[in-house]
Amino acid sequence: MSKIGITTTIPVEVIFAAGETPVDLNNIFITHPDPGEMVRNAEEKGLPRTLCSWVKGIFSAIIANPDIDTIIAVTEGDCTNTLAMLDLFRSKGIEVIPFAYPYNMNRDTLNENIRKLEAYFGVSRKQTLEMKTKLDGIREKALLIDRMTYEDNTISGLENHISLISLSDFEGDPDGYEKKLDLLISKAKSREPFRHATRIGFCGVPTIFSDLYGFLENNKARVVFNEMQRQFAMPYKTDNILDQYLNYTYPYSFKRRIKDTKEESQKRQLTGLIHYVQSFCHHQIHDRELRESADIPVLTLEGDKPEKLKERTRIRIESFLEMLSLGT
Ligand code: SF4
Repeated sequence: MSKIGITTTIPVEVIFAAGETPVDLNNIFITHPDPGEMVRNAEEKGLPRTLCSWVKGIFSAIIANPDIDTIIAVTEGDCTNTLAMLDLFRSKGIEVIPFAYPYNMNRDTLNENIRKLEAYFGVSRKQTLEMKTKLDGIREKALLIDRMTYEDNTISGLENHISLISLSDFEGDPDGYEKKLDLLISKAKSREPFRHATRIGFCGVPTIFSDLYGFLENNKARVVFNEMQRQFAMPYKTDNILDQYLNYTYPYSFKRRIKDTKEESQKRQLTGLIHYVQSFCHHQIHDRELRESADIPVLTLEGDKPEKLKERTRIRIESFLEMLSLGT
């Protein structure tokens, strides 16, 4: 069994069906005891300061884990830096397997791209689908945690974030990960509901701030919708792999993410949205579109390096929450 590095959600069913272990490099980076050091290391090795810290963290994660000698790179439907990073990884002797989500959502093209992945790993479509059935059972549990976040109010925003985002690679061990979810579900069932008055939706890319969720909860607000992270749970019931990865909103047009956000804002009775954008990330372009489309107030926060919220950002969040509380 070997470790396959991934940089975002891909049809992970194929990797598990082949008996290999996917490892999300973002998670290695952000759960490192000192992610700031990983960014600095990447800069010392020549990556520019004006490059997204997540990319630098992924680069350092690869260097620090020589047992990951293959990565799957999403060349369409993810990060604009991926193609440049491919060359860099190849120059370090790492095998790169490209995978693309077709922007026009063409079913045949997606089918062909998944077939190529299956061919590389020697996996049949039947094996992929058998693995989908197993993983969907675990995704169901993560979606139950999501419901417990906004219906029962017994799961914190950070717990929700971690439970959903880890579905990109199931922490490399679907059975072990399922047990973790079971434990959280049973723990949360005996909790008193959280009583935060302000219900926040979190959109954009995952935040690099280490204390955002806790800071909100200390200020009478709780994240009850993590937009991108929820997509990692494949929240639309499907019986085939193509529908599954066509319904998944993240790689395609931002309009679908906005539609999803608006529907969930209503369903979860959100008071406001935080749109997190990363410095030097192309997704910043979407900020205006989201702000113009949202039915509720939006606060845009920008982060650069892995760190705690700075005083200025804390004040902006406090003012936003105060403004929301006046309207509730
Ligand atoms: S935050 Fe943006 S630039 Fe950074 S890795 Fe993600 S998609 Fe790429």
